[in-house]
Amino acid sequence: MADDTGQQEDRRIGAAQGRDSEKDMIIKNKLRDGSIKLYEIEKELAPIDAIRIRREYIEDETDTRLDNIGIFSIDIERVVKRNCENMIGTVQVPVGVAGPIRINGGYAQGSYWLPLATTEGALVASVNRGCSAITKAGGADVRVLHDGMTRAPVFATESVAHASEVCDWVKAHRADLKTLAESTTSHGKLTDLVTFVAGTSVYVRLEFDTKDAMGMNMVTIASAKVAELIAQSTGARLIALSGNMCTDKKPAAINAIMGRGRSVVAGIALTHEQVSTILKTDARALVEVNYRKNLLGSARAGALGFNAHATNVVAAMFIACGQDAAHAIDGSTCITTVDLTETGVYVAVTLPSLPVGTVGGGTSVETQAECLRLLGVAGGGTPPGTNAKKLAEIIGAGVLAGELSLLGALAAQHLARAHQQLGRG
Ligand code: NAP
Repeated sequence: MADDTGQQEDRRIGAAQGRDSEKDMIIKNKLRDGSIKLYEIEKELAPIDAIRIRREYIEDETDTRLDNIGIFSIDIERVVKRNCENMIGTVQVPVGVAGPIRINGGYAQGSYWLPLATTEGALVASVNRGCSAITKAGGADVRVLHDGMTRAPVFATESVAHASEVCDWVKAHRADLKTLAESTTSHGKLTDLVTFVAGTSVYVRLEFDTKDAMGMNMVTIASAKVAELIAQSTGARLIALSGNMCTDKKPAAINAIMGRGRSVVAGIALTHEQVSTILKTDARALVEVNYRKNLLGSARAGALGFNAHATNVVAAMFIACGQDAAHAIDGSTCITTVDLTETGVYVAVTLPSLPVGTVGGGTSVETQAECLRLLGVAGGGTPPGTNAKKLAEIIGAGVLAGELSLLGALAAQHLARAHQQLGRG
């Protein structure tokens, strides 16, 4: 930031203390001679100094200046313990708001401003247009259809007969496994347990109600106890606590079919007049664009999702609201539908897998917590679980806004082209 003398003010955290004090040099020399590792600096210094020294060390090693990465306002003490190792600073992602959007949900009821963290120009404007259309049409219906975070350990057995016995044992001891799993958490509840076999491998997909937590750590801890008992009792060898049938952070049909995290549907009825005045198109064009692009095009491409750009909204809201950004991949399995009705159209998005939470993970990093507060969902809900479901519904409504806006824009162009061609004909 330039002051009135034109000087650059050095706002990097720790910069005021100057570079390369005697203590700094001692640590940097230890880093260079290998007597201290980059991740061990916090053992010798307070986190704020450790971050600065690490950043300066990397600057020196790479002959690069990281001036902006060194500027931040978040509480470092907590972040270095819980969220990020080898920290050197932060990157800043612009946050825009879209809205207000009227939501008539099971948990989210009212008008909301959606925080979207993105560097994709036009995304916020597009979602904003969709929010306006939804609000003018009376608000989005949104519901959470299913709620369950999963972990699926994989076991090796001796034969297919042994694999079958392991599945039988798991089914017969469901109640014991539930008690054991729930002994590890005061919030989590084991709600389902399904076994799958591939040759001699057995996968036990455990599903939990994680209340307001996204729940990956919670269910991993609970699943470890369950897996240990299964192995001890059946002679199956536990190979990995995550056997990839969970499925975490990979595009997977199992999540799209059975759901993972919060499964959400959002829809809006638009009259012919609203389609015409708000979206500048007509119902037939909207249906045709959705059919040929989102449904047929995605099917022809072998896609797992049938939507226009659902992940755009999911990723931007996940980043803004402190969700695990890698889970944005699950937004891609959204199915967007446009039904022709007697009065116009009903546009809906079905999001089978939205792993979201309002406690734990990155939700208490100050900037992200502010975005959650903006939506009225920061921290645990009353009763527990209601805040996370409300957040899922708000994100679902945001996805609907994004889909409506892009479909509307495509359909309007399609209509304009058709009119042009007809006019010329
Ligand atoms: P967490 O920060 O590990 O734990 C959240 C804890 O908050 C819960 O376990 C619960 O404690 C407590 N809690 C307090 N109030 C609650 C409420 N109202 N509802 C629910 N819980 C409440 O968060 P997490 O959601 O389990 O895990 C998220 C983190 O996991 C993210 O940072 C993500 O990046 C990371 N992650 C981990 C894995 C993995 O394999 N371990 C994989 C992917 C992502 P009690 O359990 O004692 O009740």
